[in-house]
Amino acid sequence: MIDVLDVHTHTLASGHAYNTIYEMVYAAKEKKLELLGITEHAPKMPGTCYDYYFMNLHVMAREILGMSVMFGAELNILDFKGTIDLSENILNEMDLCIASIHPPCFKTGTIEENTKAVMMAMNNRHINIIGHPDDARFPLDYSQLAAEAARTHTLLEVNNSSLAPNGYRVNSRENYCIMLKECMKKEVCIVMNSDAHTATDVGNHAFAAALLKEVEFPQELIANTSVEKFKAFLRK
Ligand SMILES: [Zn+2]
Ligand SMILES: [Zn+2]
Repeated sequence: MIDVLDVHTHTLASGHAYNTIYEMVYAAKEKKLELLGITEHAPKMPGTCYDYYFMNLHVMAREILGMSVMFGAELNILDFKGTIDLSENILNEMDLCIASIHPPCFKTGTIEENTKAVMMAMNNRHINIIGHPDDARFPLDYSQLAAEAARTHTLLEVNNSSLAPNGYRVNSRENYCIMLKECMKKEVCIVMNSDAHTATDVGNHAFAAALLKEVEFPQELIANTSVEKFKAFLRK
């Protein structure tokens, strides 16, 4: 499978990740990626960086050691209205935005309430990707989710860390099987991401790629195959 990008990674700044931006870039170069996305956890995640970190990202070059780098945020979906935790003026400065549900920042509701929360986040023009929509602790209606992803031109993520044997999310594999079927039915694009919290994990999509192969997911619906194809999802 052609796979040239990894756009969901974390550095030291996220508080529970272990490498620097430069170490992540070196790792991306070693993996021969064409694009690396660095998306620190947004401020409501305990121990992460705060607003000023994101506000100041304009000082970072978008090409480092010959690698194209995008800087953004992994936002927390905070409630059933899809509220996220960075202000509009900061979001305007981000190269890309992921919105995810994380246990410390979201109190699970019914399947309808959780699905509404994620769908509302998709309707935010800044949100390009829904991160790890796979955790049975926050059940989602994948038919509705895929339909809204198509309508709002939002990518659904297949998160490699969720599928790893040491992953801590619940029933991810089973949920991805359902989600991927809905994506095929409705021709919705997905993106594989490592969600690397260490440099050694940058570009690691092994478990995600194996699952896509297993369900015979079509190449044309995988955003990792070209930077141009991925970037089309940055314009909502
Ligand atoms: Zn996350
Ligand atoms: Zn993450």
